[in-house]
Amino acid sequence: MRKPLMAGNWKMNKTIPDAVSFIKELKNTVADVKDVEILVCPTFTALYAVNNELKNSSAKLGAQNIFWEEKGAFTGEISPSMLKDAGCSYVIIGHSERRQYFGETDETVNKKTKAAIAAGLIPIVCVGETLKEREENITFKIIEKQVKEGIANLSVQEAENIVIAYEPVWAIGTGKTATPEQAQEVHEFIRKIYRQMYATAADKVRILYGGSVNPCNVSDLMKKNDIDGGLVGGASLKIEDFAKLINFAK
Ligand code: PEP
Repeated sequence: MRKPLMAGNWKMNKTIPDAVSFIKELKNTVADVKDVEILVCPTFTALYAVNNELKNSSAKLGAQNIFWEEKGAFTGEISPSMLKDAGCSYVIIGHSERRQYFGETDETVNKKTKAAIAAGLIPIVCVGETLKEREENITFKIIEKQVKEGIANLSVQEAENIVIAYEPVWAIGTGKTATPEQAQEVHEFIRKIYRQMYATAADKVRILYGGSVNPCNVSDLMKKNDIDGGLVGGASLKIEDFAKLINFAK
């Protein structure tokens, strides 16, 4: 049984005071939630303060990026152990915005994924096709490459403990959500590829959907067999919306 995970990707939003006051409210609002894992991924600068505020809460902390080296002359980068130090248990890797604006590739995604695991962090590896790729009918080919290269060379045990996020690029921040059927089709495909790579880990790995998830569409998405949660941008910034997503089954 895969425990649903609702993860908020705050992107480059919220000051430290804004982030801390959000967490104060979140703790009160979702104090009784047991059957859904809750994750917030603030900016680097807010991680430490948010972690302090999350003490005595079951919600977890994640970062939005990582570098694969442990230390040294890499100006502006943050290492895996620094994220652990700040209280993170998860890290988002290969988000389409990082692929699009910061030149991340399946190769760098793989290096980051392995470095995160080595440091005891759970990577959330993002994959997804652009609108052009969907229209050219190459969605499966693109996803297969991203999964096979970005999540290569893990042990079965490592492979079952990571999280994959399917985020069609055309649905991120656009208000256009994949239909539950479109999302399920790709999630099922990802699990099939993953089974070829890592056998039984495919039954345990959680696959999140991301792309304009909101309180109105979340429950239909979550009814699908291979959708194990959401990676949520815009709707994770407002406490009422994020709380509704976490309580998707109510
Ligand atoms: C995201 O940031 O990963 C995302 C899916 O954003 P949004 O929910 O705003 O589309």
